[in-house]
Amino acid sequence: MRQLLAGLLCCWSFGTVAEAPVAIAVHGGAGTITRDNMSPEQEAAYRTAMDQAVSSGYAALQRGESGIDVVVAVIKLLEDSPLFNAGHGAVLTWDGHHELDASIMSGSDLAAGAVAGAKSIKNPIEAARAVMLASPHVLLSGQGADAFAEMQGLEIVPNRYFTTPRRLKALERYKSAQVEKPADSKFGTVGVVVLDREGNLAAGTSTGGMTGKRWGRVGDAPLIGAGTYADNSSCAVSATGHGEFFIRWQVASDICARVKYTGVTLRAAADAVIQEVLVPEGGEGGVVAIDAAGSVAMVFNTEGMYRASIDREGNKVLGIYKNVVPD
Ligand code: ASP
Repeated sequence: MRQLLAGLLCCWSFGTVAEAPVAIAVHGGAGTITRDNMSPEQEAAYRTAMDQAVSSGYAALQRGESGIDVVVAVIKLLEDSPLFNAGHGAVLTWDGHHELDASIMSGSDLAAGAVAGAKSIKNPIEAARAVMLASPHVLLSGQGADAFAEMQGLEIVPNRYFTTPRRLKALERYKSAQVEKPADSKFGTVGVVVLDREGNLAAGTSTGGMTGKRWGRVGDAPLIGAGTYADNSSCAVSATGHGEFFIRWQVASDICARVKYTGVTLRAAADAVIQEVLVPEGGEGGVVAIDAAGSVAMVFNTEGMYRASIDREGNKVLGIYKNVVPD
């Protein structure tokens, strides 16, 4: 039925059928990201990685691949890059290990899957999709998540595979500063939202969480409604930031609910939640979001957010720092 509707939405123009629009937005984390604390080489590396991610995702959407598969493929690219706090390059826990969180949601049927505290799944976003498609559950945690991923034939790696020198240093700094907030206050989570050819929205998020986390702490990224949400009747959202705030204020689902029930634009809904709700509470971070018409919003209240999008007209935006003119 949805496919039929999407087909009907295609319009005749000059004897040819115009293809339904596709669009994508990607984030690579938000935080204290300023020109002063980035070298030109680092900046170029992030821009290249974000460009590759958004361009490959857009090309796959144009080929007609499903939104869910595109979200997984793009997040996998970013999980495999040491630049981001997801998969290889994830931050370390207080005990010097990695505990990975990821989730995915399909806007056509509200199907969702997630893993939390996974220690050996090379690409946690693949495990999130497997939970959605091959289990009766939404969220698997810890050893159970690892065991399920192995049973599903996903690639299993030793925990040290995820470690990089940069994250070891960040943990040392965190421990010596003895502060609750990470010393390296660049969150670095990755997330993708898409509108596919069938008119379906999808969202996914993957993270190592926050440096020095303890006691099995789980953030917003694997929690549907907090860090990830997708519903064809409103929007798709992926968040990054201080998870405890995103959980309590249900950031992703609040943005979609505002779009659905109040009729405000996606941009207005995202601005309201990120700037007007979170800022007074001290909740730092941002979101990428997309609606059923292919409008994109990339909103954050930190110094910067690695971000990239290609909208329904094919316009590409790449950004790192706070803009005078919003994206
Ligand atoms: N939101 C993630 C968490 O709290 C961190 C991040 O976005 O980098 O676990």
